[in-house]
Amino acid sequence: MDKLDIEKNQAISRVGLLKCDTYQQDEVVSVVERLLFDVIMIQDLIKPGFKVHIKPNLLSLKGPDRAVTTHPAIVRAVVNLIKPLGVQITIGDSPAGMTKAIEKNWLATGMKQVADETGVRLVPFENSKVTLKHVRGNTYFISSIVADADVVINLCKLKTHSLTLMTGAIKNMFGVIPGIKKSDYHRMAPDVDGFSDILVDVFETVKPQINIMDAIVAMEGNGPSSGNPVHLGYVLGSRDAVATDAIAAFLLGFNNDEIVTTAIAYERGLGEKRLDVIDVVGLSLDELEIKPVVLPSKRLQSYIPNFIMDMIGKLIWVRPCVNKDTCKKCGLCVENCPVQAMTPVNGIPKIDYSICIKCFCCDEICPYGAIQQEMSWLVKRLS
Ligand code: SF4
Ligand code: SF4
Repeated sequence: MDKLDIEKNQAISRVGLLKCDTYQQDEVVSVVERLLFDVIMIQDLIKPGFKVHIKPNLLSLKGPDRAVTTHPAIVRAVVNLIKPLGVQITIGDSPAGMTKAIEKNWLATGMKQVADETGVRLVPFENSKVTLKHVRGNTYFISSIVADADVVINLCKLKTHSLTLMTGAIKNMFGVIPGIKKSDYHRMAPDVDGFSDILVDVFETVKPQINIMDAIVAMEGNGPSSGNPVHLGYVLGSRDAVATDAIAAFLLGFNNDEIVTTAIAYERGLGEKRLDVIDVVGLSLDELEIKPVVLPSKRLQSYIPNFIMDMIGKLIWVRPCVNKDTCKKCGLCVENCPVQAMTPVNGIPKIDYSICIKCFCCDEICPYGAIQQEMSWLVKRLS
């Protein structure tokens, strides 16, 4: 089957935004069913025998209640709803730093239980072949399980993000790159604009046809791993990942152009970002009561014009630091720092800030939440 052509599909910028207050399985199934069959019209995309890959966000070795990963109730609902369509289903992600511990990740995130119950195969990308894809002259190594799938279902989690401000549908595709190769892309593009371009490249190599976003309990503050769970009570669904992210940014209280990945993807014609053009079904954006959530500390920097940043930039910084009391000396962050800015001293990582590119990969990777964010005096005053 040809991958869905966004330009030609009239319904592509339709986003289903439905209320779902809990992860109770019955409630989740009913909401996801409406999104898949009434909004996305999955029955028009999938034929018996198709290979369908489900890509949740399995970022870290943390339980579902921490709001770091896609909740297993959503994954279970999707699997059980599409199984009767006669498809071959796989579930997989390549979380940063999990090359040696993916089974532990599946256990912690609830994926193993979903796989055991449903008989669906969990696949480690690290052991799978890769397919080379080229975008804008860059080469990307994509798991062949994803590249060979007839349909990719993007089961993303809505969270704040210290580097890109938000992670949702577009950024979730970064996990289709197996293993430590992801670090190379952080090194190639350490700033938010360059890295967002790379995230959109990777998204473009996959173009998931189906996007379901878990925003029942999202993450606020300095996500994507160490922020705090915040109850929003929504599930979103669309064929258009860009439109899904645009609506999600609105729900978190970001301005329309603030999320660079959404803006870039729209400019490249990969989807719709304009709220007045997106066809939102279910809840109406005008009638929603938007709950204020805590946004990442780094957001402040995006408001300051470049010429002022040139003058006072040294006074405005947010950087990672290790909490010595909670660090378990596992070394995962040291192994995965893309620029080798971390050195263990008696087991506790020490960060060389003259090298650190503030990518916050260490925060994403740390299973114990031991990476915190340190802010300059001025950022604290203005936050
Ligand atoms: S220390 Fe952390 S934030 Fe700095 S470069 Fe390494 S992984 Fe990125
Ligand atoms: S900060 Fe976290 S990832 Fe790094 S060594 Fe300590 S416990 Fe491990």
